[in-house]
Amino acid sequence: MADAEHPCDLDGDPSLDPSLGQEIVRRIDALSAISETPDHLTRIFLTPEHRAAADLLLSWMREAGMRTHLDAIGNVCGRYEGDRPGLPCLMLGSHYDTVRDAGKWDGPLGLITAISCVGAMHKRGQRLPFAIEVIGFADEEGVRFASTLLGSRAVAGTFDESVLGAKDRQGISMREALSQFGLDPGRIGAAARSRSELHGYVELHIEQGPVLECESLPVGVVTAISGATRLAASLTGMAGHAGTVPMLLRRDALAGAAECIAAIEAFCRTDEGGLVGTVGYIHAMPGATNVIPGQVSFTIDIRSASDAHRKLAVADIVRQIETIARRRKLLLQVDVTHDNRTVPCAPWLRRQVADAIAGEGYRVFELPSGAGHDGMAMIDVADVAMVFVRCRGGISHHPDEHTDTSDADAGARVLLRLIENFRPRGAADSA
Ligand SMILES: [Zn+2]
Repeated sequence: MADAEHPCDLDGDPSLDPSLGQEIVRRIDALSAISETPDHLTRIFLTPEHRAAADLLLSWMREAGMRTHLDAIGNVCGRYEGDRPGLPCLMLGSHYDTVRDAGKWDGPLGLITAISCVGAMHKRGQRLPFAIEVIGFADEEGVRFASTLLGSRAVAGTFDESVLGAKDRQGISMREALSQFGLDPGRIGAAARSRSELHGYVELHIEQGPVLECESLPVGVVTAISGATRLAASLTGMAGHAGTVPMLLRRDALAGAAECIAAIEAFCRTDEGGLVGTVGYIHAMPGATNVIPGQVSFTIDIRSASDAHRKLAVADIVRQIETIARRRKLLLQVDVTHDNRTVPCAPWLRRQVADAIAGEGYRVFELPSGAGHDGMAMIDVADVAMVFVRCRGGISHHPDEHTDTSDADAGARVLLRLIENFRPRGAADSA
C-alpha cells in the first residue's frame, strides 16, 4: 500500500496505460478461468464454458469499438470500420476452443492480441482506409467431433455439411449441440465470406516449438503451414516360442519395425530440406514376453513446408521400409491415412509482417509452422500470413505452455505496426 502511494512509483500509477502485453496477459488469465474443470483448462466446442468464453470475447470486442455478432457455427466476429463504412477488411484472428488439459495461450493469444490492437486504435480514434475484422474461431482443435477447423471452414465456405451428423462421446450430434447452443445449423452457409470482402487473413499464434527460443527472438515470420502425410504401416512375420526358434530362423515383426523406425529417423535427420518424421504409435501382437512378435502396426507422420519435397521423401521412406521387410521376409502393408497440402503464406503479406518485425527493432527470422492452424482453411477465401510468438521451451497442448508478458507485448506491437502500415495487395505490389 505504502509503496503504491509513493509518488516515484510509476509502476503503481493507475493513470499510466499498461502495456498492450500486460492487458493481453490479464485477458488471457481471465479467459483461462472459463474451463470445464477448475484445475485443468478444457474448453470444448459448444459447451456452456465455450458459450461463456464467447460472451466475454464479444464484450472485449465491443469495448474495443467493434460491432459484434456470433455466427452460425459459433465464431465470435467483430468489425471495426475503416474511414468509411463497408470497406473490405483485413481479417485477424485465431481460435478459442482448447484441447483437454490445455495451455492458455494456444489460440487465445492471437485472438486477444488482435482485439487489444483494435482497442488501442479505437482509443486514439484512429481509422484506416480499410476495415479490420477480428474473428475467434469456434473450433480449431476438433476435440469434440473429431473434425478440425470447423470455424474457419465455415468462414471459407468449405464447411462439409455431412459432419453435422457426427456424434460426440455422449452420442450428441453436432446438429443437436449447435441447436442447444442457440445456433441454427441451417444457417452455417451464411457464415461464409467472399474473397472480395477480405484483403487477407493474418494470424498471430504461439510457435508451439522451440526454434524462436533457440534464436533468442520474441517473434518470427511464418513461411508456410507445413503439409503432412500420415501412413499406417503393418508388418507381418511369424509368431513363435521365444526359447525354441533360433535367431536366424525368425521372422520377428517387431525387430523389423524397430529397423524401419531407425531408418525413418535417420532419413529425416539427414534431410537438408527441414523434413520432420515421427513414429508416434506402435502396437505389437501378440505382445507377450515369451513370444516372438508376429504382427506389428505403427504410424508414420511426415511433414515439410514443400509438398514436392514431402512426396519424394514419403516415396523414399516407403521404398526403404519395403527393402527392410523383404530382407526380413516380412509382409508389409502401407496405407496413406491423411494427406494435407502445404499452405504457403502469401509473399506480399509475409513481406509486410517482416517489415513490421524489423520496424520494432527485431531481427527478421523466417520459419515454417509444423502445426496446423486456421490458415489451412482460410487460404480458400483469402491470402494468409502468420506471426509466431516465442513460447517457453516450445511446450504446447500442455498446462506448462507459457509466453512472457514482454513477448506478448512484442507480438502486439508487431501486429499493431502491421495493421497501421498495411497496404492491400494491389497497392503493395505497385509500391
Ligand atoms: Zn492453436
